[in-house]
Amino acid sequence: MDAESRSFEYNESSQRVLFGKGVLAKLATEVAALGCKAPLLLTTPQQASAVQDLTQILNGHVAGSFTRATMHTPTDVTEEALVYAKTTNADCLLSIGGGSTVGLGKALSLRTGLPHICIATTYAGSEMTPILGETKNQQKVTRVDRAAIPKVVIYDVNLTLSLPTGMSATSGLNAMAHAVEALYAKDTSPIVRIFALEGIRALASSLPGVMENSQSIAFRSEALLGAWLCGKCLAMTTVALHHKLCHVLGGTLNLPHAETHAIVLPHALAYTAPDIPQVMKDLAEIIPHSEGDAIQGLNRLVSKLGISSSLKALGMKEEDIELVTDNVMMLTFWNPRPVNKDSIQKMIRRAWLGEQASVDI
Ligand code: NAD
Repeated sequence: MDAESRSFEYNESSQRVLFGKGVLAKLATEVAALGCKAPLLLTTPQQASAVQDLTQILNGHVAGSFTRATMHTPTDVTEEALVYAKTTNADCLLSIGGGSTVGLGKALSLRTGLPHICIATTYAGSEMTPILGETKNQQKVTRVDRAAIPKVVIYDVNLTLSLPTGMSATSGLNAMAHAVEALYAKDTSPIVRIFALEGIRALASSLPGVMENSQSIAFRSEALLGAWLCGKCLAMTTVALHHKLCHVLGGTLNLPHAETHAIVLPHALAYTAPDIPQVMKDLAEIIPHSEGDAIQGLNRLVSKLGISSSLKALGMKEEDIELVTDNVMMLTFWNPRPVNKDSIQKMIRRAWLGEQASVDI
C-alpha cells in the first residue's frame, strides 16, 4: 500500500453469508435460491452424523453423501469423491465442517463447476478464501482461484458448541494468524486493517470465555464473528513467513494444521516484530494482558488457552528442523523482515522446544 496516496487494490466477493443462532434452518431456501434441488453432502468421518441432520432439514432432497474429507485435501480422496459425485447427478455441493471439509468442497467445485454452499463449524476461515491447498506425494501445492470461493456460507453458532475446547483454542489462534499476517502483508490496505483488528480483538477476548464455558452462545458468537473477519483477511492479502512456515510443516511432516499455527504464531511474529513497529503497537492495544508488548500478550493467551506449546509435542523430530528450514528457504515470498537462514532455524528450534517466543533472534 502507498501510505501517502492510499492507493491499493481490493477484491470483493459476491458471496452470501448467513450468520446467527439457528440460521441453519434457512438451508433449504438457500439451496433453492441457487436454483438447485440435489446437493451432495460433504463432511469428515467424525461429523458423519451431520448427514442425517441435513437430510432432515432438506426434507430428504439430497443427491448423496461423501464423509471421508481429510486434512490437507489429499488429491486421491478428491478423485474418489469426484468419481462418486458423478454417479449422483448432484447439482450443488454442501460441505459441513472445518477447513478439511471446505477444502474438499472447493476442490470438487473447481473440478465440476458445481456451486458450493458451506456450513462452517470451526474458526479456520477457509470458506472465505479463494485459496485451495492440495496434497500429493507429501507436497502441499496451493492455488488461488476466485472460482473456489463458496457461493453461500452459513455460520450457525449452534454448530460450534460441539467443537472441543482444545480445538476451539487452536482453531481460534489459526484464525488470528490470518489477521496478524494481513496487517503487515505487502498488499495490506485500510480495509484489511479494519477487518484484522476487529477479528483479532474478537477472538483474543472471547476464546478464554469459550474455554471456561464452551456452551456460551455469547462467547461462541464473538469467536465465530472474529473467525469470519480473520478469514476475510486471509482472502484479501498475500501470506508471509508465518503461513509459509506452517504450510511447510503441514505439507512435509503432516503436522496438524490448527495446532501448528497456534504454536508458530508468537514465534513468527517475534521474528518479524523489529520491522513492523506500528503493527506491534496496534496489536498490544487489542490483545489483553499485553502491557505494551504484543508478544507477551500472545504468549500469555497461548498459555491461558492451554495450547501445547511445542512442535516436538506434535511429533516433529529434531532432525526435521533443518529439513523444514531448508524447505522454507527454497520458497519465494516476501516478509517485512527478510528471511535469514540462521535466524529462521533458531526460531524453528525455539518453537520445537516449546520455549517462549521473544524478539531476540
Ligand atoms: P478440520 O476441518 O480438519 O477439523 C478438525 C476435526 O474437527 C475434524 O475431525 C472435524 O470433523 C471436526 N470438527 C469440525 N467442526 C466440529 C464441530 N463443530 N464439532 C465437533 N467436531 C468438529 O480442521 P480445521 O483446522 O478447521 O481445518 C484444517 C484444514 O483446513 C487444513 O487442511 C488447512 O490447510 C485448511 N485450511 C485452508 C484454508 C484456506 O483458505 N484454503 C484456511 C484455513 C485452513
